[in-house]
Amino acid sequence: MIWLCDIQNCNKASVRISGECVLCNRHLCANHLGPNYHTCPQWEAKARYDPAARKGEQDEIV
Ligand SMILES: [Zn+2]
Ligand SMILES: [Zn+2]
Repeated sequence: MIWLCDIQNCNKASVRISGECVLCNRHLCANHLGPNYHTCPQWEAKARYDPAARKGEQDEIV
């Protein structure tokens, strides 16, 4: 399954795994994963500290 970038007017495919953000529920391409466009904490770092982030991951799978 390929997701497209959620940024308006951007039709690039989102980056697999790291391009998926469960915090803001977006899928972002390599360009828009940058801090200028995406301000959420990194998913992997967040998951280590915040149990709620793990719950978000499960919710997305269901
Ligand atoms: Zn995000
Ligand atoms: Zn994009």
